[in-house]
Amino acid sequence: MSLPIVVIGGGLSGLFAAHLLEQAGQRVLLIEARERLGGRILSQGKADGLHRLDLGPSWFWPAMNPLVASLVSTLGLDAFAQYTQGATAIEGPDGQVHRQQVTWQQSPASYRIAGGMQRLIEGLRARLEGKVHILTGTHVVGLKLRPHAVELDLRDASGAWTQQAAQVVQTIPPRLMAQDLHMEPAWPPQLMQQMRDTPSWMAGQAKFVAVYPRAFWREAGWSGTAMSHRGPLAEIHDASDVSGETAALFGFVGAAPAYRTGIGQEALIRQALAQLQRIFGEQASSPLWTAVQDWAQEPLTAATSDRQPLARHPLYDAGTVPEPWAHRLWLAGTERSANAGGYLEGALESATHAVQELLAHRSQAPATVASQHERTLP
Ligand SMILES: Cc1cc2nc3c(=O)[nH]c(=O)nc-3n(C[C@H](O)[C@H](O)[C@H](O)COP(=O)(O)OP(=O)(O)OC[C@H]3O[C@@H](n4cnc5c(N)ncnc54)[C@H](O)[C@@H]3O)c2cc1C
Repeated sequence: MSLPIVVIGGGLSGLFAAHLLEQAGQRVLLIEARERLGGRILSQGKADGLHRLDLGPSWFWPAMNPLVASLVSTLGLDAFAQYTQGATAIEGPDGQVHRQQVTWQQSPASYRIAGGMQRLIEGLRARLEGKVHILTGTHVVGLKLRPHAVELDLRDASGAWTQQAAQVVQTIPPRLMAQDLHMEPAWPPQLMQQMRDTPSWMAGQAKFVAVYPRAFWREAGWSGTAMSHRGPLAEIHDASDVSGETAALFGFVGAAPAYRTGIGQEALIRQALAQLQRIFGEQASSPLWTAVQDWAQEPLTAATSDRQPLARHPLYDAGTVPEPWAHRLWLAGTERSANAGGYLEGALESATHAVQELLAHRSQAPATVASQHERTLP
């Protein structure tokens, strides 16, 4: 049997690359280190599973994100505009709240996905079912170039093993690649430095959500949008479902990663609820439930150097694969998109580009006998 093309990483980029490769008739193995798929996409709910809140990305912008819009439509998902009707709150450094009557206008408008962004991941996974072999809980720790294959060093709960690949699509962020993957032969120091200098987008961020019995802020004429110069939440938005039946607010935690770990999650939740109470009133202090996702504490998202706030959106590019790796390994993942780097659109764009290039250079890799440490895949 011919060797598979291995996709490293089961975030949006990896799953989309696997989908495109499978559609092109290729044999694909996707390897993901976490037990779950989705990477930075994570939607969390309570037992009913009806309304899940996004602890990673919430929005896409159909006017600017044609690939995401097309995937949403292909997967038959429902999207709805971010709720912005009503006054915006501005909290000063002293905790004083100023009410801006003007509705916060987004241009272009941002949209959310009913059921949470994770619907994208579930939809893609369903399409890969029975066609692409997916290994979760399996860390890629190194890649070795062999005459007719790329050998991947893997580690899972049962130990270390290897897997041969005809070619590889690598979707984990550049900083994690430089930090965690041992490349043999090694990549030039200048390229390694470029990867270390490329921040993983939003990896230093944390998100807070609070679910309430009613959207009481809407009843008081607030949109749920608030900007704060005091914190701990720097930017707050309505996170209710499309009908408004499940009422929720979410906030980006402005406080730096070191502060967050210093005070701990319970204190952070208390401070966030006190802030929501200052802004939206007494009812904000009694949520049904809350959740915090601190991405800086996730070693499969944030490299050590990502654990600090980013001053601005970095410039990303497609990256360079050095000889002799060229045409054996292809780079994808949102940090490899020059046009939409950092965003969901960039995850899809880079995957599309990598797969197109790979298919254009695809050579028939000869079948090889499994090595001693290799496992037989179905
Ligand atoms: C809080 C937050 C808010 C955001 N908001 C938005 C938004 O509103 N709109 C938007 O467009 N974008 C937003 N983003 C960015 C968006 O989430 C990313 O662009 C997108 O999810 C990146 O997908 P990816 O597949 O490129 O990377 P990832 O999702 O990071 O996937 C990489 C995968 O590789 C796996 N992995 C890592 N190391 C290894 C290893 N050694 N071996 C095997 N697997 C490994 C990881 O577990 C992960 O599953 C946000 C991100 C965050 C964190």
